Amino acid sequence: MGKILEVKDLSFSFCTYGGVVKAVRGVDFDVNEGEIVGIVGESGCGKSVTAQCLVRLNPEPPGFFENGSIQYKGNEITTMTDKEMRKIRGVEIGFIFQDPMTSLNPTMKIGKQIEEIFVQRNVYNKKELKEKALEILKLVGISDGERRYNQYPHELSGGMKQRVMIAIALVGNPSIIIADEPTTSLDVTIEAQILDLLRDLQKKLNTSIILITHDLGVIAKMCDRVLVMYGGKIVERGMVDDIFYNTKHPYTSGLLCSIASLETEKDEELEPIEGTPPDLFSPPAGCPFAARCEYAMEICYEAMPPEYQLTDNHRTMCWLQHEYAKAIDLPCKKKL
Ligand code: SF4
Ligand code: MG
Repeated sequence: MGKILEVKDLSFSFCTYGGVVKAVRGVDFDVNEGEIVGIVGESGCGKSVTAQCLVRLNPEPPGFFENGSIQYKGNEITTMTDKEMRKIRGVEIGFIFQDPMTSLNPTMKIGKQIEEIFVQRNVYNKKELKEKALEILKLVGISDGERRYNQYPHELSGGMKQRVMIAIALVGNPSIIIADEPTTSLDVTIEAQILDLLRDLQKKLNTSIILITHDLGVIAKMCDRVLVMYGGKIVERGMVDDIFYNTKHPYTSGLLCSIASLETEKDEELEPIEGTPPDLFSPPAGCPFAARCEYAMEICYEAMPPEYQLTDNHRTMCWLQHEYAKAIDLPCKKKL
């Protein structure tokens, strides 16, 4: 499995009237060929901003890269011109967003919207365009493609629209698909269908996926590796089993306690994590989670914890791993 994406020490901020918001603060990760990497965290943790940095979708300005690099197949993304970026964005790196209505053109028939992207890829023959559009609709499980081809987005259900978005993301035959909360606006049954579809396509096409979600259930179902983000940083990372069965960060543990597992009894209380995320105008000097962490020690408020390497893949950014810290067994090991 070769690396196709390498993110190193990435920091991205926004200038606002209130000051500079440090949305992403020194993030490192890789994505390998054919791998599904999940990024999980509460809203405002920096997961979407991180993903959008990969295809330069954050408005610049007011956003700007403070530091770091993003290498896609050896090419530096952070310094690319608009023209260079257009060859990658939506082609080599596809994306799917939460709300298909913001990405689909409401005044244009589905078939034409798909064809338009093939035209951008230099396919011009009318007959060939239609064939390709129908082919890709079939690939995403739309069997009555001929009918859908002539419909407008508002005539489709939420799940059907999301299938069309996936079709559009696939037109460029991407190496990576970024899916930002792709199923958040869908009901549970449709969510399961869309996730199955994504996983099937990933296997069939060997595309890598970066899946952004606030839902650990989605992560458990889909991902190989997980990055847990908090306060603009990756606070824990590991294979899915490391994160679910051997959690080493109090924030991850809190997230696990706040979701329902298959074993959760109906009347069993889920515990939300108390408190609010840190102010990213002036992030705390120490651990970003300290103000909400029931295990916080003095050092947690004073110094940023280093990332402790626990195994090849499992790392956690928490002072509890310091050799002098008290051993603590974090709760909420979930069977999902
Ligand atoms: Fe809690 Fe300290 Fe670990 Fe941060 S470093 S998560 S405050 S124990
Ligand atoms: Mg988001």
